[in-house]
Order: sequence, then structure tokens, then C-alpha cells
Amino acid sequence: MTTIIDGAQIAADIRHRLQQRLKALVCVTGKRPCLATITVGKRPSSVSYVRRQRAVCSSVDVDFEEISLPEHTRQEELVAEISRLNGEARISGILLQLPLPEHLDQRTAQSYILPHKDVEGVHPMNIGALVSDDRPPVTAPCTALAVMECLRWTKVELSGKEIVIVGHSAIVGKPVLLMLLASATAAPTPTICHIATRHLERHVKRADVLIVAAGRPGLITGSMVKDGVVVIDVGINRVSESGHPEGGKIVGDVCFDEVAVRASHITPVPGGVGVVTCMMLMRNTINLFALQHHQAVER
Ligand code: NAP
Repeated sequence: MTTIIDGAQIAADIRHRLQQRLKALVCVTGKRPCLATITVGKRPSSVSYVRRQRAVCSSVDVDFEEISLPEHTRQEELVAEISRLNGEARISGILLQLPLPEHLDQRTAQSYILPHKDVEGVHPMNIGALVSDDRPPVTAPCTALAVMECLRWTKVELSGKEIVIVGHSAIVGKPVLLMLLASATAAPTPTICHIATRHLERHVKRADVLIVAAGRPGLITGSMVKDGVVVIDVGINRVSESGHPEGGKIVGDVCFDEVAVRASHITPVPGGVGVVTCMMLMRNTINLFALQHHQAVER
């Protein structure tokens, strides 16, 4: 029997906890957190992601502000806007919506967001906290946190297990690797695969737990996995026969039907990691708010 890892249920549980926590924080501080999202130009994917951010903020009672800059915004103008938000006490967290127009330098712009306003957990200081494994950082990349929440939900013991991660991006594969290794006594044994990995299928076949974040629909087929594997499919890909960017359907990186029959647990797409990721954005925002008001953070 395969258990579907229900992202909506996990997100609902987290939402409930965050609402309770936020109520207490608002009571103590007399203030509410605010997430500021900066968009530059108008891309369809960004428009829908910002709409989701607004909705998730409203669902947990976090204020939301969109700062919409025109497509031709210069780097120094973008940095000036980030600096302004860094200095505004009522802004708890800043999110720079990607991708930026090509003439702008994403990494430089992101590095201007102060670590204590870095709601996506991508500032080198916050990533450094993940590496140092002293204690978990206040914020960390939301998708990686969501992967860990999905794994926790399964209650599968990870200690000593073979975990294969496909994809080594800075927002998914690498932080997930660090999070998995964080427990000195109960850590699994992770392997990271990427585009230069030879014989991907040999690695995947060994996996007790498989985490796929490659952005390649259909990359993982049924014959590649072993029976009883736990599968976390992070991929979000729009596939459309017409080629229209808004048409078609959303699928993951895993051939769901053929892998699900062999898996013990699997996340669907949509309805898996994605909805949990939105809640992790809220967790990060509330943590930053708590930090800024000298209150306990949830690590
Ligand atoms: P990314 O930055 O493009 O990274 C993709 C990674 O996959 C890279 O490390 C790449 O390796 C590797 N890769 C690509 N093709 C591969 C192949 N055939 N075999 C092995 N490795 C391969 O993408 P990302 O931002 O991490 O996102 C990955 C996917 O997750 C996308 O579908 C994205 O839409 C989705 N996503 C979902 C959420 C969510 O909340 N569920 C959030 C963010 C992203 P190289 O670097 O070596 O080329």
C-alpha cells in the first residue's frame, strides 16, 4: 500500500500552529509581521507566485506588501529599494522575486537583503549557519524546509538510510543535504546527483529515500526505483502539447503512476511539496518577526 504524502494536510497543520504562535507574538509585541515582495517587470510565473504569497499571508494573518518595479529598473535602483526596506522597522522579511530581467545581477541584489530580513534563507550568513551545524538557522530555503517537513510527516526513520537527492541547486538539493546531515546521531547517508552524474539509475535504485529536484518531467521512471522507496518529488513542470506557457498541466520530475505502485510513500504534484513550501515562507517570516522583537524563534 502506497501512502500519498498529502501536502495540503501537512500545510494545514503547520498553518494552525503558526496562527497560534503568531497570536501570542502579536499579543506580546502589539505589532504584526509584514512580508515585502519586490517584483521587477511582469512575468506570468511571478504574477501567480505573488498571488499565492498574498493568499498565504492572509491565511495566517501576516501583512503583505508588493513593491512592483518596472522592467527597466537599474541595479542601483533595485539596491536602493532593498536598502529602504531593510531600514523599515515594520517590514519583517524581504523576498526578491526571481527571475530578474537579464540586465540585473541576482546574486548581488540578494546579498543586499540583511540576514535578519532574509525570508528565503539564501543570505550567505544564513546558509553558513546551516553548514556550521551549531544550531539551526532562523531562516532557511523554504523548499528545503518543506522537503524535511514532508519526510518528518512520514515518520520513516532516516538514521543510516541511503538518501539520493537528484539536483544540487542552492535552494533545494544543497540545503536539503545539509539539513539531513544536521543530526550527528541520526543522520542518513546522502548522495547528490546532478547533470554530470553517470548512471543516474544506479544511484536512484539504491535509494531508501529519493528526493528529486531537477526540473525534468519524467526523469524518474518506475523501473529506476526499488520497492518501498520514499519519494519526494520537488519538480514543478508545466507540460503543454500546444507549447503555450499558460496551458497544459503541472507535473513533477517523477512518473507518478509507475513510481507510486512501488513506493511506500510519495508526494503528488501538485498538492505535495509546493503547498508546504508556501507555509515555510510563513514560518521564516514569523521567525524573523520574532527575532526582530527579541522573542523565541522556532528552529
Ligand atoms: P535548478 O536550479 O535548475 O536546479 C536543477 C538541478 O537539477 C541542477 O542541480 C541540475 O544539475 C540538476 N539536473 C538537471 N537535469 C538533470 C538530470 N537529467 N540528471 C540529474 N540532475 C539533473 O532548479 P531548482 O530551482 O532547484 O528547481 C528544481 C525543480 O523544482 C523545478 O521543477 C522547480 O520548478 C521546482 N521547484 C519546486 C518548488 C516547490 O515548492 N515544490 C520550489 C522551487 C523549485 P546541474 O546544476 O549540474 O545542471
